[in-house]
Amino acid sequence: MRRPSGWRTSGGCIKIPRVNESGRRSVIWWAGERDGVTLPALDREVVGTVATAQADAALAGVARRDGFGLLLEGEAWKAQLGPGHGLRTASFEALEWVRAGERHAPEAWSAGECEDFAEAYVDAQVRRGATLLVTPGHDGVARRDVELAELAAEHVRAKALREPAAGDARAVRRELYASVRVRVDRVDVAELVDAYTSVDVDGFVVWASGEVERLLALVDGLGVATGRPVVVAGAGPFWQLALSRGAAGAVHGLGDGVYHGAVLGSVGDEVTLRRLFMLRNCDCGAHDASTPPRGDEEIRAHDLWWAMKEARWACLPDTGRAMFTLTLRAAAAKTNRERLGLAPLESGWRVLVGEDEERAEDDGGA
Ligand SMILES: [Zn+2]
Repeated sequence: MRRPSGWRTSGGCIKIPRVNESGRRSVIWWAGERDGVTLPALDREVVGTVATAQADAALAGVARRDGFGLLLEGEAWKAQLGPGHGLRTASFEALEWVRAGERHAPEAWSAGECEDFAEAYVDAQVRRGATLLVTPGHDGVARRDVELAELAAEHVRAKALREPAAGDARAVRRELYASVRVRVDRVDVAELVDAYTSVDVDGFVVWASGEVERLLALVDGLGVATGRPVVVAGAGPFWQLALSRGAAGAVHGLGDGVYHGAVLGSVGDEVTLRRLFMLRNCDCGAHDASTPPRGDEEIRAHDLWWAMKEARWACLPDTGRAMFTLTLRAAAAKTNRERLGLAPLESGWRVLVGEDEERAEDDGGA
């Protein structure tokens, strides 16, 4: 029997076998189709696994060749959209578990349909070389997703899919994480945590939307109740907050625009951008320190440098230090944003900078 090894990842799953100090937290780097070039620039100290959409699995081979673990997210929720929906691309429709031209209604599936789906969903990842297998995550059917996770776990156990793939030179053991895709304001967090405690998975990927406090409660709850690693995904700017607090991992990738850690966000407006780089120089080396990066290549290098820098801070072994660092940075970002006339930090940061203060700020600025 596998025994839960504590609140953080014990290695082998999120970080690929290299540098696998137990208890280290890490980033799962989300690489879009055009982001292949970013892989060589990733910091192996904080990134062990690369994630990409199953439908754009072109990067899969590159990631595995370069020694990264691989998560291929199927995005099962897209199949709940109408067949003509723009997100259902031709490559998505071609996935083995997608019923082409049909809207998936998992809530109405029979036991047999659920089983077939869960197995096909896992097999599609195995076939494409994934090492961190995930269960399907749908919208609005949290209970059904728990059942599908159970079925996927049974399949993985029955077929011994945790064993390394035949011919995998690195002999990476696969793991299975449950995708917990929820709107945290629409579910009973305690009930959901309870439902997952008996599912035989190695960890969880929480794709949650809603209030940050409730997201963090779900992450903490799953971690404490199961003793298994919990990864946050799709958490927007709060990936580094969850990670700093002790989540085992965070799925994070490049966003739009020019990011600057001094304001904990991206800036679109050209004049403000210039003022920002005058006020807070950038040491990334991809551009002149006191002027913003220009063009796709410079911007990507700059944004990636910030992502890796923030990942290292968030993954400091001591969560107390990681949180202290982030708290200081949030306070500085608050001041910098005021000086530049930027919108206040998103309300979720009040976990760090204080709710009352934030409110007074809003009133004063009105
Ligand atoms: Zn820079």
